[in-house]
Amino acid sequence: MDSERLLRQFEQAGFVIVPEEEPLDMARPDIVALNTCGFIQSAKTESIEAIFTVLEAKKRGLVKKVFVFGCLSQRYRKELPEEIEGVDGFFGADDAAAMLSAAGIAYDPSVSLERHLTTPSHYAFLKISEGCDRSCAYCAIPSIRGRHVSVPMDDLVSEAQMLADKGVKELLLIAQDTTFYGLDIYHKRMLGKLLERLADIKGIEWLRIHYSYPSDFPEDVLEIMAGCDKVCKYLDIPLQHSSSKVLSMMRRGIDGDTTRALVDKFRKAVPGIVLRTTMIVGHPGEGAKEFRDLLDFVREYRFERLGAFTYSEEENTYGALNYKDSVSQRVKQERYDTLMELQSGISLEYNESRVGTVERVLVDGFSDGTVHARSEKESVDVDGEILIPAAAIPAAMQGNFMKVKITAADEYDLTAQFI
Ligand code: SF4
Repeated sequence: MDSERLLRQFEQAGFVIVPEEEPLDMARPDIVALNTCGFIQSAKTESIEAIFTVLEAKKRGLVKKVFVFGCLSQRYRKELPEEIEGVDGFFGADDAAAMLSAAGIAYDPSVSLERHLTTPSHYAFLKISEGCDRSCAYCAIPSIRGRHVSVPMDDLVSEAQMLADKGVKELLLIAQDTTFYGLDIYHKRMLGKLLERLADIKGIEWLRIHYSYPSDFPEDVLEIMAGCDKVCKYLDIPLQHSSSKVLSMMRRGIDGDTTRALVDKFRKAVPGIVLRTTMIVGHPGEGAKEFRDLLDFVREYRFERLGAFTYSEEENTYGALNYKDSVSQRVKQERYDTLMELQSGISLEYNESRVGTVERVLVDGFSDGTVHARSEKESVDVDGEILIPAAAIPAAMQGNFMKVKITAADEYDLTAQFI
């Protein structure tokens, strides 16, 4: 979304926006602006590789200027210019105006709420707040993005209305912590109220919650999810672990029993809810016993979707300053592989249970004679897809809701036919 707002400013100034997928030797852009991530080691590595790829293109004369912005650039503002030559400007996560100025453009406040969508026109991300007031031991985000700041609800409703007017049907609500929404500006949790107001917008058919936080979860959200067809019965809730010892060392504000009770509550309050979670393996304090606890938890609670990270020590976090990174890289990797193998069986079993059911899907696009679609059970990018072989595909289908029958499944994707 930060990128989309920035692109809208470039567009307003007369620039033509080139899709990211277009090869640089075809596009030959005047400016490449790279939004970087500096949250964990793998993200940092990916961002640095992307910078070098574009600098290589610049050396070959395919790109005139390279700007780097976002979290990585903010976190290593001093080091990056010293270590990487050829970048025309490094900017922090909130330095859009400075970057535009370096490109010879004045920031235009009249389009400050507008975005140049980089997603297909039928769905969009809606960032409801920025920053985080939590203090998870492993996480560098609060030091990069600052304290939690909610976007006023009226602004979000206006933005959502603007997106709906452009054809957006699905809004994916994101933030560092969506369940904290409202506490800073309304002094109470307002995610539920926000969902209700967004659901009233004509044209919006699906609202999907990402990045929720387990401790003090706002339970009115569950009632709204159960009662409102527009709120997907889908919740992305990174739980990170199940062992009380590890959760305490992670400073998550919740223990193993409360985590289990919360997941029970989700399943009871919203029958059929799809839960997506993430876990961290190899965090300080995780011995063989704690890892077994995690495997037992995952085996018992059978999350429809689960991803995992191996712990990476990030400088200046509570964990880096106070704990020894005690689990070896080899053991971290072994635990990751074991967890993901367990999950792959659970995901397969879940997907196979859907074979023969009729589901409402949103068509995302086509490739090679196959329609790519999602039901409310699948989010964008992070989950699998529903693939529908189709001999003739009317272009008008994209962005529309259809009914399909699921005919086959693997651990990731499902296959279906139109009915
Ligand atoms: S909730 Fe924890 S993991 Fe998420 S951004 Fe905040 S500090 Fe980081």
